[in-house]
Amino acid sequence: MEKDSIFLTREQALKAVCLDFHSYGPQPMLFCELLRTLFGDEVVYKRDADKEGLWVAKQHHRNMRWLEGAELIDFMCQAVSEVPKDETDQLAAVCRLVFQTACRAEESPNNGCNGIRIWTGMESFTCRQCGQCCRQLAYHDGLTEEDVQLLRSKGREDVLEWVRAITGLDGQTTYRIWVTPGSTQFAVPCPFLKQGSSSDRWVCAIHDVKPKICRHYPVSRKHALMTGCPGFDTSKADTGRLWKWTT
Ligand code: SF4
Ligand code: SF4
Repeated sequence: MEKDSIFLTREQALKAVCLDFHSYGPQPMLFCELLRTLFGDEVVYKRDADKEGLWVAKQHHRNMRWLEGAELIDFMCQAVSEVPKDETDQLAAVCRLVFQTACRAEESPNNGCNGIRIWTGMESFTCRQCGQCCRQLAYHDGLTEEDVQLLRSKGREDVLEWVRAITGLDGQTTYRIWVTPGSTQFAVPCPFLKQGSSSDRWVCAIHDVKPKICRHYPVSRKHALMTGCPGFDTSKADTGRLWKWTT
């Protein structure tokens, strides 16, 4: 697979980092690594193995403060936003840790402003056909109007009968998948998940028309890691320290 990458300006990169924190919740091991990268000895921190939080203190403060949940995430968003504007290399290091893929400081190909190029790492992805994503992930609200149009254009009534359309007071229609026909219950697992060539392999029976949310999963190495997809060989991580958090 060709190596895909995206260029983000400093502001977009910071936004993406915070979005990651909000999407995946507190990630204490990652946060320790980030604090070490950002502040060195200026900030002291300590994990509590049984909790999803951190003890944190500025070096000159005597008392450590316990941070967890939204407070910890806000603290980390604030910490990364303090990367100086001209320290794009440092921001690239932050992105490498957060997105767990190759990132480097670069000038925008359009206007020369500083930013970060981020590789998706998808070239080293191989679907193991374990079916985990089709069983575990929250895709029920993921069907788009575009997906519905595709199903209609292909005459796939057999698939559309598992789609529930809901029109809100504002006249907007949203869709739920996969809802057992004649009921309001989600089918578990997805009715199009079929056994493959062996008992531990699973395939999608509607591969050619499956929703975008399924087609694009996982969107990155980090996405795969955080949602339990085993499609990346973790021994070949290309960020060096990626799988070696020890804090
Ligand atoms: S979880 Fe990953 S490896 Fe398993 S079927 Fe889904 S995409 Fe493939
Ligand atoms: S439509 Fe296909 S890819 Fe999507 S959840 Fe069902 S079996 Fe999996």
